[in-house]
Amino acid sequence: MSMKLNAAEMPWMQSTAVLALFTAMPEASLRFVGGCVRNALWGEPVGDVDLACQLEPKAVITALDAASIRFVPTGIDHGTVTAVIDGTPYEITSLRRDVETDGRRATVAYTTDWAEDAQRRDLTINALYADVSGQIFDPTGQGLEDLSARKFRFVGQADERVREDYLRILRFFRFLAWYGGQEKVDAASLKACREHKAGVKSLSVERIWMEMKKLLSAPNPVRACHIMLTNGVLETVFPEANNVDGLEALVKLETREGIEPDPLLRVMAMSARDSLQIALLTKRLKMSKAESTRLRDWANDGAQLSTDMAERDKLAAIYTSGKPVIFDRARLRAAGDADPIQSVRWMGLARLASEWDIPTFPVTGKDLTQAGLPKGPAMGKALKALEALWVRSGFTTEKPQLLAALKFMGY
Ligand code: ATP
Ligand code: MG
Repeated sequence: MSMKLNAAEMPWMQSTAVLALFTAMPEASLRFVGGCVRNALWGEPVGDVDLACQLEPKAVITALDAASIRFVPTGIDHGTVTAVIDGTPYEITSLRRDVETDGRRATVAYTTDWAEDAQRRDLTINALYADVSGQIFDPTGQGLEDLSARKFRFVGQADERVREDYLRILRFFRFLAWYGGQEKVDAASLKACREHKAGVKSLSVERIWMEMKKLLSAPNPVRACHIMLTNGVLETVFPEANNVDGLEALVKLETREGIEPDPLLRVMAMSARDSLQIALLTKRLKMSKAESTRLRDWANDGAQLSTDMAERDKLAAIYTSGKPVIFDRARLRAAGDADPIQSVRWMGLARLASEWDIPTFPVTGKDLTQAGLPKGPAMGKALKALEALWVRSGFTTEKPQLLAALKFMGY
C-alpha cells in the first residue's frame, strides 16, 4: 500500500476549492482525513472531502474569514466548521480528544497532536491523514495495514470505543457493507458491537435511519446484514425488517436486471407486506413523508397480482393502485420467485408499471351536466361507475360510448 497519493491523479485533491482551503490555513496545519483518504487509497470513488486542522475552531473561522471563504459553524461544539465553496461543503474539524462521552455526545478538548486526534476516530482505516501533496500519515500504525487487508477494526479498545458512541456500531457495519469482501471480520470489534447492541436504542431514530439508509445503499450489503442478523444487531434496529434472505434475493435481481440500489425497496424486501408492521416501522424511525407513503402504499395495496393476468387487468391494477406501488410489488415478486421464467414475467409487469402512460379518464362532471344529470352525490357515483367501466374495457371505451352507457346504468 502506497504511502503517498498521487495528487495529480486525484481531482478532489487539486480542486480550486480545496487548494483555497490549504492556502487559507497555516502551512502543514491542515490535512485530509477519513473517507476521502481511505477511498482514494482503495481506488474507490471519493465522496465528501473531510479535513482535520491543528487550529482551534475560532482560529479556523478567523482564517476562513481572512481568505473570504464562506462557512457555517455546523458542529462548533465538537470542533467542526463547514466551509462552503461553490456550494460544496468541506468539514474542517479541529484536532481533538474526547474528554467525556455518554454514548451519544462527547465533551472535547483541542490538541495539536495528530496522534491524539487519531485515537478518537472510529476505525483504523478512518484515521488516515494526507497532506496537500498526498503524503500519507497513519498515526495508529494500523490504518494502512488494515486498509490493505480490508480489516474493519476500531482504534484502540473496541469495547471502549463502542461505549463512547453507539453510532459506531452502525458505522462499523456500514463500512463492512460498502467495502468488505469475504475476509474474516475482526473478532474484538464484532464482539463489542454484539455486546453493546442495546446501546443503539439510545441514539436518535433519525440518526439510526440515516445510517441504515447509507448501509442499505451499498452495492451489496447482504453479508454485512447477515452478520448483523446473527449478532442480534439487526433485530435491535429493524425488528420489523430483518429478512436477510429476502434482501439477498433482491440484490440478485438487481444484479441481473441492472436495478440501482434502493434502500427503501430493500427495506420492503426485508419486511413482511403487513400494514401494521410497516406502520410501526415508519413511525418508529420517523421516516419522511415520502418514505412512509411509499412503504405504506406498498403494504396496504389490495390489488391481486399474478403473472398470467390479462393485459387489461394489469393495466387496471396499475391505474387503481398507482404506478409506484405496482412497480415495487412486481419487482419484489420477481426477486422472490425462484422460477426464473416467472421472475422474468414479474419484471415484465414491473416494466409495464414504470413505462405505461396512465391515460386520462375522458368524462368530466361537465359532460354529465350537459347530459342532463343534476349536480350532487349521484353525479359523483355516476362518474365513478363510468370510470370503472372504462378501466374494465382496458381504457378503450371513448367518451360518446361511455355517455351512452349512462342510461343503461339507470341515470
Ligand atoms: P463517508 O464520508 O464516505 O461516509 P467517512 O469515513 O468520511 O465516510 P464521515 O462521517 O464523513 O465518514 O466522517 C469523517 C471522519 O470522521 C471518519 O472517517 C472518522 O475518522 C471520523 N468520524 C465520523 N464519525 C465518527 C464517530 N461516530 N466516531 C468516531 N469517529 C468518527
Ligand atoms: Mg466523509
